[in-house]
Amino acid sequence: MKEEIRRIARENFADLVGFAPADRFAPDDPVFRIFPGTKTVIALAFRVLRGCYRGTEEGTTYYQYTTMGVENMEETILPMALWKVSVWLESQGYVAVPQRRHQQIMAEPDSTNPEVAYDAIYRGRTAENQMDFLSAAVACGIGEKGLSGSLLTPEFGPMVRWAFVLTDAVIEPDDLREPTLCDACGKCVSACPGHAIAPDGTRDPWQCAVYYNGANGTKNPFMPPDAFADCPDRLEIIAGEADLTPERAREILDRIYFYPPAQHAYPCSICGKACDVACYCHLEEKGVLTRKFHRPFREREPWAFSVDDFKIPQTK
Ligand code: SF4
Ligand code: SF4
Repeated sequence: MKEEIRRIARENFADLVGFAPADRFAPDDPVFRIFPGTKTVIALAFRVLRGCYRGTEEGTTYYQYTTMGVENMEETILPMALWKVSVWLESQGYVAVPQRRHQQIMAEPDSTNPEVAYDAIYRGRTAENQMDFLSAAVACGIGEKGLSGSLLTPEFGPMVRWAFVLTDAVIEPDDLREPTLCDACGKCVSACPGHAIAPDGTRDPWQCAVYYNGANGTKNPFMPPDAFADCPDRLEIIAGEADLTPERAREILDRIYFYPPAQHAYPCSICGKACDVACYCHLEEKGVLTRKFHRPFREREPWAFSVDDFKIPQTK
């Protein structure tokens, strides 16, 4: 059974497949609220093509990461693989409950998901159970949790997306992976153009949303030089040094549509997930990633405009 599930998942572009028994999850884990009969959690992880991050790295094209690396993965690739694995399990007489992350629902009353428009999120939906995707992926043995809160895999580093099938089939589990990748180097922290990740790895979701959307002018080729002209703190915002409350973040987000969003409420990532890219480059440089390329991802120093480019001349 395990090999057949792996085969189907891989035929449908899953790069990593992991199996966790129910006893790796606490009795109050959302897994059991979603499907009390869960005996095995199956994780399917998919690479985000390294080339999807290329445009932001070069400063040449920005929609490819969001359309191909986020929207296409979440709306097409992952659901199809979940569907095929689930159909096979049901054809064998088992329950199969596919679990794709719902990007627009969250239990928290005042948080956000940087990957979708903040005003398209339904908050405080505690009845809408969602799995803890990161912990469940670790429990299935497909990776480890990095300081930044990203899932790190030995094959692709943080350049992965993943989903699950819950089933009442009892399937031989995979071993947990020893955490060996994150060395607490802090490069994810320093790479963020909005200082959204604290040195201890805590991520401020609102700060992240603002800078994911491109509020740092030194990394945004589409920002006009007079952006945020009526804001006294405009240069702090543009330099990524503003410390934003959720209210202020909302105000800024309403004003930084410098680039068209993808469909399904996915705004274009202008930061290009700089935190994950820095982590990937670090792991690649250390030689610890098993998926090798002929050329390193980063071949020159990252580019940046100057904050001075956004200074508005004073008129007498
Ligand atoms: S950049 Fe360094 S500290 Fe951050 S997650 Fe990667 S390995 Fe860990
Ligand atoms: S680099 Fe981008 S995705 Fe990462 S924390 Fe900063 S704003 Fe968020």
